Amino acid sequence: MTPRTPPLLIALAGASLVCTGLALWLARGLMTSPSPSGQNPSLLEILDDVRRGQPAPPGSPKPAPQPPAQTAWRSPLTDACVAPEPAMGQRLRDLSAQLNKRVNRIRIHPSNFSERQKKDAFGNRIDPNPRVIVLHETVYGLGSAINTFITPHPHDDGQVSYHVLIGEDGRIIQALDPAKRAFGAGYSAFAGEWVITNRKVGGSINNFALHLSLETPLDGEDDAPGHSGYTQAQYDAMALVLADWMRRYRIPPENITTHRYVDLGGERADPRSFQWNELKERLIALDVLC
Ligand SMILES: [Zn+2]
Repeated sequence: MTPRTPPLLIALAGASLVCTGLALWLARGLMTSPSPSGQNPSLLEILDDVRRGQPAPPGSPKPAPQPPAQTAWRSPLTDACVAPEPAMGQRLRDLSAQLNKRVNRIRIHPSNFSERQKKDAFGNRIDPNPRVIVLHETVYGLGSAINTFITPHPHDDGQVSYHVLIGEDGRIIQALDPAKRAFGAGYSAFAGEWVITNRKVGGSINNFALHLSLETPLDGEDDAPGHSGYTQAQYDAMALVLADWMRRYRIPPENITTHRYVDLGGERADPRSFQWNELKERLIALDVLC
């Protein structure tokens, strides 16, 4: 835990840091225009670094290692379009109108998530905006997942979270604000991209991912290749959340993927028994697909 500092001291320190940032920028010469490669950061970028207390490391950024080759992701959502039943469209629109009221927000332990980083471990600027959605399943019940997230985990290997959990009854639990970085996937990559924020841990998609997990049915509490699947209420609720994220962050449907696909360790198989057609029909009904 960081010791608490009186607000006045923070304000004074902040003001002096902002002044330092301004002076640094002026010293660089007002005629220098910022380059998109980040060689000459803009005033806003410098102030941003100063505000976060993370000045750029001295020297030039070093190129970050690239992820190993992966087979290309083939999205089951982007093949032929289908017409959803009219009743489904009406049902989902009604549910969508109450989405905010239906979301249960919980507060998880800070050791199980972090801020989205704007620089990698090598000093390179990185885009912290969410641009891939990863689907999971909980394997054990909702209560077990929530309990894990609210429990402090001091070591990297125990830290875990998803942004949203969907219960078997269609309950939507927001465990983490999408603006924050959930620890939903370890060693992972998507479309040739990962981010290394900790050299000891290796690359991961977490910095630019949104994670959603479906509660596994009781007959799936094992490592068998499949189970009886997810409920209609779960597919409805997940479609509402995904449509909201797709609109809010402009995420294309081909960037909705699975933990199984992004995992580079070859250990994850989730979500098992997932019916892409159930999701596809609903995303079409919600006007975010086709
Ligand atoms: Zn998973």
